[in-house]
Amino acid sequence: MVFVKDGEIVAPGEPLCVEEEFEPGENVKKHNDGILASIISGVVKFDHSKRIVHVKPLKKVEEIKVGDTVLAQVKEVQDKIAIVNVISANGSALKHPKTAVILPSKRMRGSLEEYVGIGDLVIGMVVTCFTGIIGLSIWRPNLGVILGVCNKCSGMLIKSGRTLVCTRCGEKQKRKIVPYYGNLERLASMLR
Ligand SMILES: [Zn+2]
Repeated sequence: MVFVKDGEIVAPGEPLCVEEEFEPGENVKKHNDGILASIISGVVKFDHSKRIVHVKPLKKVEEIKVGDTVLAQVKEVQDKIAIVNVISANGSALKHPKTAVILPSKRMRGSLEEYVGIGDLVIGMVVTCFTGIIGLSIWRPNLGVILGVCNKCSGMLIKSGRTLVCTRCGEKQKRKIVPYYGNLERLASMLR
């Protein structure tokens, strides 16, 4: 009897199969009741030719490093910083989104609220990972909001000349945008 599929992710202690089917391999333990169980969180590999079951450890949690370009969604905007959820890094979607902070620029005038809004998707560059806090810059010309959301009604903002206008309520809003603002193909290419 086999309880899990090949390639499935299992938790520590999770039963894999009975001893008649397979021998315990890497990270697998046989219990007294004849059931083979995983010792770790990992991916199940049934070796049918040798009749051994292994559990391979999950890949290390994706790391984000200084210099990476990330796609993030804004969660909260304060006067000088914004809290975001990083959803992709260097063009590939993260399995586990990470919290990061958009840092202010010395040349920034007024509040950060004039540059990003809650719900916006932004392209940022990682400028610090000090003490585990990911700090992002959006201040270079190719960085900033790629898709904005209206502060008033959550409608989508579209570019109209030099400003952004809400498609739902017509409200005009300011953002620091990327040159390819609203380019959904570009956005999709970052989420592979
Ligand atoms: Zn609106």
